[in-house]
Amino acid sequence: MLGRHHEPIVAVATAAGRGAVGIVRASGRDLGVLVQALCGRPLLPRHATYLPFLGADGQPLDQGLALHFPAPHSATGEEVLELQAHGGPVLLQLLLARCLEAGRPIGLRLAEPGEFTQRAFLNDKLDLAQAEAVADLIDASTEAAARSAGRALAGAFSGEVNALRDELVALRLLVEATLDFPEEEIDFLQQADARGRLERVAATLDAVLARTRQGALLREGMQVVLAGQPNVGKSSLLNALAGAELAIVTPIAGTTRDRVRETIQIDGVPVHVTDTAGLRADGEAADEVERIGIGRSWSAIEAADAVVFLRDLARAGEPAHDAADDRIAERLAAHPAAAGRLLCVWNKADAVPPGTPLPPLPAALQALEPPVLRLSAATGEGLEALRRALLRQVGWDSLPEGLTIARSRHVEALHRTRGHLQQARALAARDDAALDLLAEELRLAQDALGAITGAFSADDLLGEIFGRFCIGK
Ligand code: GDP
Ligand code: ZN
Repeated sequence: MLGRHHEPIVAVATAAGRGAVGIVRASGRDLGVLVQALCGRPLLPRHATYLPFLGADGQPLDQGLALHFPAPHSATGEEVLELQAHGGPVLLQLLLARCLEAGRPIGLRLAEPGEFTQRAFLNDKLDLAQAEAVADLIDASTEAAARSAGRALAGAFSGEVNALRDELVALRLLVEATLDFPEEEIDFLQQADARGRLERVAATLDAVLARTRQGALLREGMQVVLAGQPNVGKSSLLNALAGAELAIVTPIAGTTRDRVRETIQIDGVPVHVTDTAGLRADGEAADEVERIGIGRSWSAIEAADAVVFLRDLARAGEPAHDAADDRIAERLAAHPAAAGRLLCVWNKADAVPPGTPLPPLPAALQALEPPVLRLSAATGEGLEALRRALLRQVGWDSLPEGLTIARSRHVEALHRTRGHLQQARALAARDDAALDLLAEELRLAQDALGAITGAFSADDLLGEIFGRFCIGK
């Protein structure tokens, strides 16, 4: 495996398209051949040299800066050559082709997606969470996401995870050492305050887990579903939140045939809003197309962080309309995924006299005490309050400072760690503390944590993570 990762690779490192500067980067061994062919002379290590890049015929292809980093003092930990040329796509492809041709004797090949970062990981220049942060930084769609990915790349998150792991290792060693002196077991643990340390590590883990969940949310976004009977203004609300004409708005009930999904931002948090097809209260749609839409609505609700039950204030009090809302309310209340995440929102506030009191909640929802809001998708009144309420639904009043970006993978690993820690605490609480089992749970907790930074990662996980990078990164 190591041999393969010294194979020289090359790629255009800058984004496709025109730019003032474009970079072709090579990493691996024996790059001196490339230096000689393209630069015509050896380069002073880690110094930028301005010179012509030579074609196969010895004529200049372009002028630019060349940098040569001998191993291991480079971004990948291998020998690296960087050619900074002018940024045109044709020119960069020419330069790349020239490198591949000149590098044939050393087996130079085109880099696979993420391969530079993967080598940095394999050579201990980055841990796995930091490598992921590289991808997140490149992909960041909001300023908040970019800032928090930067923090993760700088190692803030890895630092917290490693501190936790060090404490787990220390505890496990303590327990294992005690195993060798069975007659003194309990005293020894008590003296070292093993239980107290276990409690403290569990508390720290919970805090890291809470922040990591928010970091994952920042990267992956929250899911919001707009539910309600036809014509209450779901499409209009989606449009108002997105600030664009996305969904088809029509005065005929039941005309939103499919769910329409749009991603908006609230305080830098991506929010994926799904407009469901009109949820007919009795589940009986007028036709097949609409019926399929309804089934999908429920699957969207299943995955939602917040479900907005939208109602028409202008029609409140009409018996048939209210009855239809009541039946939707019953279905939402009965749905475990929806019940805890409901927001009751009255739309068309502009269509009733100001100060009109809000009708009571449907009986089915009263025990749930969902937040109740009033707004107008048409005028925009009340939209800001809805945005705040959506963030509060995932535990955010505003974006916390100092957040590091994270992935669901990290949240799951922390969860597994937490499970083993809980087992360990239960064992430690017993009088006959089964120390061998305790040590085993601590080891499992440590392994679960190690998956975050890549200390214990399977090759397929690595492949999956690095395969998502673009080529040249
Ligand atoms: P959907 O079926 O729930 O998606 O509802 P639509 O968004 O298609 O809206 C149905 C009708 O209600 C359209 O004629 C909209 O213009 C109207 N409408 C939506 N929101 C408001 C609002 O806030 N005030 C008023 N007065 N009309 C609205
Ligand atoms: Zn609609």
